[in-house]
Amino acid sequence: MTLPKNFQFSQSSLQDYVDCPRRFQLRYIQRRAWPALDTAPALESELFMQRGAQFHHLVHQYFLGIPTEKLARQIEGDEMLEGWWQNFTDLQGFQNLEDLRARPEISLSAPLGEFRLMAKYDVVALTPSSPAHLPEGKGENFTIYDWKTSRKRPKREWLEKKLQTRVYPYLLTRAGAQLNGGQPIPPEQIEMIYWFTDFPDQPARFSYSEEQFTTAEAYLGGLIAEINNLGDDLAPLTKDEFRCNYCPYRSLCSRGNKAGLLDEMDEFNESEIGFELELDFEGITEVEY
Ligand code: SF4
Repeated sequence: MTLPKNFQFSQSSLQDYVDCPRRFQLRYIQRRAWPALDTAPALESELFMQRGAQFHHLVHQYFLGIPTEKLARQIEGDEMLEGWWQNFTDLQGFQNLEDLRARPEISLSAPLGEFRLMAKYDVVALTPSSPAHLPEGKGENFTIYDWKTSRKRPKREWLEKKLQTRVYPYLLTRAGAQLNGGQPIPPEQIEMIYWFTDFPDQPARFSYSEEQFTTAEAYLGGLIAEINNLGDDLAPLTKDEFRCNYCPYRSLCSRGNKAGLLDEMDEFNESEIGFELELDFEGITEVEY
């Protein structure tokens, strides 16, 4: 069984492959539904995911110009969401939306090898000042913001290795010309920022360069070709068995039958391994360039 020709790769499907080739095969090639929880307790995980989705929705509405007071009324009485929202509205730099020229929830895609690679961004903001790593006057700054609602702040080392950190700036360079008057965006003018709802003063910032772009293109292209060559053999199971605790296929793979605990996932988040409950918005509509 092989991938359908119109399959679109995303950072989350590629991350699945890197974490466990078998999971990629079960989820995207065989499309196996397996009725198991990935995290316990179920209600707590579900509520946490719902709040994450609600926060993303609030911020989207904010960037569309809906007044903050009106948005705050939507979450009245939910202490956690009110706290996250307060942290967001206290942020410097997001007040003047006209200067920021923010594009919330845009999707970009580009061909890579025999397939397409796509990404859905929380916000891409265009600011007239140069990025911090460039001298003033060296062009505008295209900042990719990604909102993270993790209960613990992940380590930078893990974020740096994450497929999202490689895919998002790469695709903005490849497919973001419409945001830059029809000209490709130079990698040096791109910055990616993970902003944490519970740690508003500790964002993780990643600058970008031509060299990183070239490395990402080779790496992502190689990964996609490798997946395309999986063929009908069973893909290997992950060697990192802790991943199976948070994977719905664990009983199918004979890797246990109890879902991993949300609290223990938080501890991983503080290590170099990193883990998060993924809010996967990438299956939704996209714009192709
Ligand atoms: S249970 Fe483990 S080995 Fe099986 S698909 Fe999930 S992560 Fe991979």
